[in-house]
Amino acid sequence: MSLATGTVAERVATLRERVDEVTVASGREPGSVAILAVTKTQPRDAVLAALDAGVRDVGESYVQEARRKYDHLPPCTTHFVGHVQTNKAKAIAGLFDVVQSVDRLEAGLALAKAARDAGRRLRVLVQVNVSPTERFGAAPADAPGLAARLRDEGLAVDGVMAIGPLHGDVDAAFAAARDAFERVGGTTLSLGMSGDWERAVRHGSTMVRLGTAIFGPRPVRERSLA
Ligand SMILES: *Cc1c(COP(=O)(O)O)cnc(C)c1O
Repeated sequence: MSLATGTVAERVATLRERVDEVTVASGREPGSVAILAVTKTQPRDAVLAALDAGVRDVGESYVQEARRKYDHLPPCTTHFVGHVQTNKAKAIAGLFDVVQSVDRLEAGLALAKAARDAGRRLRVLVQVNVSPTERFGAAPADAPGLAARLRDEGLAVDGVMAIGPLHGDVDAAFAAARDAFERVGGTTLSLGMSGDWERAVRHGSTMVRLGTAIFGPRPVRERSLA
């Protein structure tokens, strides 16, 4: 599948407008909700097209894919949004500016060590589980304690990430994510994907993670491996 730059640019422009509309309707400043372009399964050209269209944050779930695609990108912030396997911590800490998916102490300790060894300060979010259909994520009640431990290890914990449920009570799930964010602290509540971002913005999301809304359907079925 190939995508014309114009297509991605148009979608990004439309989404930027719509996100701002919902942000303003929720009583916040336009521009205060960032769009993270999730580029998994998309070619490097698609990443470049999104950046060219004004996106400043890009994200991947798979280390292997990012290695090829995220090499020497124009100025942007790169986010890891996949499951953190401890044996990949070094690669993740070397490739990404922000790790959104720290869901347990073991993963955080491995990332903290890798960041220390590399002499860099790594920004992370605590991933909380607010959905019966999600495998990963810390229990919301455990998030503040985990965040405190991660900060002790030198990680810059900047908020919370959550994946909404496919079915069921999305509002309750998003409210739980926001509550965890308020207790963890930081500036980023990463909440909302292509199918549920509007509701996430109404619940206080500061960053929506959009894949298919920007790039169209993904060519292959997702795996759950990092
Ligand atoms: C794939 C993915 C997204 C984007 O999903 P879309 O439904 O295509 O917008 C967002 N967040 C995470 C963690 C993902 O793995």
